[in-house]
Amino acid sequence: MVEAWLVTLMQGYNRESYEQRAGYLAQVHMPGHVFQSLIWWALQSLPDEILVGIDVDAQRPHRVEVEDYFSGDEVHKQLFQGQGYTIKEAHIVNRGDSYSVHHLPEDWTDDMFSADRGSRAGRFTHWLHTHPNAPAIPSGPDADAAQETTGIDMILGLRFSPEGPLPWFDDVEGTRRSMKAPEKTKKPRKRSFFARHALPVLGKAPSGHSIHEIQLIGFHKSGVGVNIIFVDDAGLPYGWDEGNNKMP
Ligand SMILES: [Zn+2]
Repeated sequence: MVEAWLVTLMQGYNRESYEQRAGYLAQVHMPGHVFQSLIWWALQSLPDEILVGIDVDAQRPHRVEVEDYFSGDEVHKQLFQGQGYTIKEAHIVNRGDSYSVHHLPEDWTDDMFSADRGSRAGRFTHWLHTHPNAPAIPSGPDADAAQETTGIDMILGLRFSPEGPLPWFDDVEGTRRSMKAPEKTKKPRKRSFFARHALPVLGKAPSGHSIHEIQLIGFHKSGVGVNIIFVDDAGLPYGWDEGNNKMP
């Protein structure tokens, strides 16, 4: 089950993905339940960053009407491996500092996942790593590590509290894709100092953390952005109007 607050955020993110489609040459469809797992794992692994390997489902191509709807004027059909197929599952393969999340652990062996990954075990199509309490913007080493990726790289940035040893670090330049609480238009009543300075809470994680902001970006090693669309079990985007085949 995907939490209701996360569904709402994914609807908003999808709407933005549609509005910004002209800026992307390709897209990847990510099931909501996989994304929820990624957020929970990221928070359970604090203060470490995690490196996650991601496979696509060769039986589940993107739905054509959805792919068409989110396509910009310019589309690159063969930009990366696994393109056109929905994400299937994710596995944590390493954790640690920002160095660790660019490398497979030394004890990594191909039979580690042989039971559920078949003969092509060992290498994943896509990779994702986390930026705890920092924006989802690639660093220089992130861009270097992406050069070995056959699919795409993704970065999940989370702002949360209690923040532990990782205060929010925001001094980074780059394009952002954020999931935030909608701006309140109602004029605030007189509130206490603490209430005025409190961050809005999007939701609570099983780890007990309050989540204030979620950022997610996808990019190809050439440096171009890849648009991520959140889909349900039927392969339809959250917020999709099935009668009219569009985002309302
Ligand atoms: Zn990074």
